[in-house]
Amino acid sequence: MTSTGSTRAEIVVDLGAIRHNVRRLRELVGPGVAMMTVVKADGYGHGMVEAARAARQGGADWLGVATLDEALDLRAAGDTGPVLCWLAVPGEDYALAVAAGIDVTAYTVEELDEIAACGPSARVQLKVDTGLSRGGAVRADWDDVFGHAARLEQAGRLDVTGIWSHFVASDEPDHPANDAQEAAFREAVALAEKMGMRPELRHLANSAAAVLRPSARFNLVRCGIASYGLDPAPGHTPDLGLVPAMTLRARLAMSKPISAGDGVSYGHTWVADRDTTVGLVPAGYADGIPRAASNIATVWSAGRLRPIRGRVCMDQFVIDLDGDLPPAGTEVVLFGPGDRGEPTAQDWADALDTITYEIVTRVGGRLVTTHVDEEQS
Ligand SMILES: *Cc1c(COP(=O)(O)O)cnc(C)c1O
Repeated sequence: MTSTGSTRAEIVVDLGAIRHNVRRLRELVGPGVAMMTVVKADGYGHGMVEAARAARQGGADWLGVATLDEALDLRAAGDTGPVLCWLAVPGEDYALAVAAGIDVTAYTVEELDEIAACGPSARVQLKVDTGLSRGGAVRADWDDVFGHAARLEQAGRLDVTGIWSHFVASDEPDHPANDAQEAAFREAVALAEKMGMRPELRHLANSAAAVLRPSARFNLVRCGIASYGLDPAPGHTPDLGLVPAMTLRARLAMSKPISAGDGVSYGHTWVADRDTTVGLVPAGYADGIPRAASNIATVWSAGRLRPIRGRVCMDQFVIDLDGDLPPAGTEVVLFGPGDRGEPTAQDWADALDTITYEIVTRVGGRLVTTHVDEEQS
C-alpha cells in the first residue's frame, strides 16, 4: 500500500514484549511442559511472522496456527521448528503441509485417510471433543478414530505425534465444564494408549488454563492471548508481569472549538452541552475501530483521557478535548500497555462488552503496522 511516510494511524507492536511474555509463561509452567505460542490470525493482529520470530526467541518450542496456509506461510518465512495446525476442510492439500514437516490435526477417519495418502512421514495429532462441541472426535467416535489411527501408524503410514482437546470456559476457573473436560481428556489419553499409540504430546490448556489450572498443563500448553500480554482470564489472573505488545495510535488531523448545542458526527448522536474543543482522529471502522465505540470508548491525547463523541465513521472519529487545542499532528493513543495512562485493549473490550481477542484481531484495514523491539526488564 502507498505510504506518504507520515503516520496517520498505526499499529505499533513491541516484539520485545512478546519475547518477554513467552519467557514469563515458560517460567510459570516450568520444565517438562513445552510452550506452544499460538500465532493464528496474523499473530492475533500483531503480524504472524514477526510474532513467531519473537516467540521463538522467547523460548516457544512450538507454534500453533489454525489453517494450513498459515503454517505454510511460517515455513515460507523461514521457520523450521515444530508447527501444529488444526483447521482444515476436506480436499485441502495436506501434502504440502506434510512435505513441510507440519503437524496436522485429524478429527475423523476420513481425514486420517487423506493425511496418510500424503506419505509415510505425515505427523498427525488427534483432536478429541471433550465438551466444546466444536472440532474434534466426539466420544462415541473415539474407538473408531483411535483404532484407525493406530492401524495406520502400525502400518507405517503416519505418525501420531499428539492427542489434544480444547476448553469451554478456562477463563472461568469455577465453571463445572473444566473438571469434566479434564477427566474426559484423561480418558481419551488412556484409551489411545490402550490402543497401542504413544503420542508424544498431550495438551489441553490455552492461556487461561496454562495460568490457572496446573493439572491441565500435561506436557504442552497452547498460549495465544497471554503471549501478547493480554489478560487471559480478567478478574482471575494473578499478576504475571505480562506486557501488552500492541499500541494503536494516530495523529490528530485537526482540533477546533465548537459551541454548546453543536452536534457531532453523523446523526448528531452527541450534542455539546457546553462550549468545548474537539479533535479529529483519522481512523475509523474501515480500519477496525468498532463503530460500537461511538460515544463509549476513550482515547488518550495531550496528557489526558479523551472521550469519543458521536459516531465512529468509516475513516475518522471525533474526540472531546475539553477546551484544550493541541496542534494537528499531536499523538492520540487509542490503546496501549497503559503505562502512560492510555486505555488498554482490556478497557476497550470492557467498554464494548467483548474480549481483547476481538479488539486486537479486528484492527487493520489501512493502518500501517510498525514493529519495534524494546528490551523488557
Ligand atoms: C486460539 C486457540 C488457542 C489459544 O487460546 P488463548 O486463549 O488465546 O490462549 C489454543 N488452542 C486452540 C485450539 C485455539 O484455537
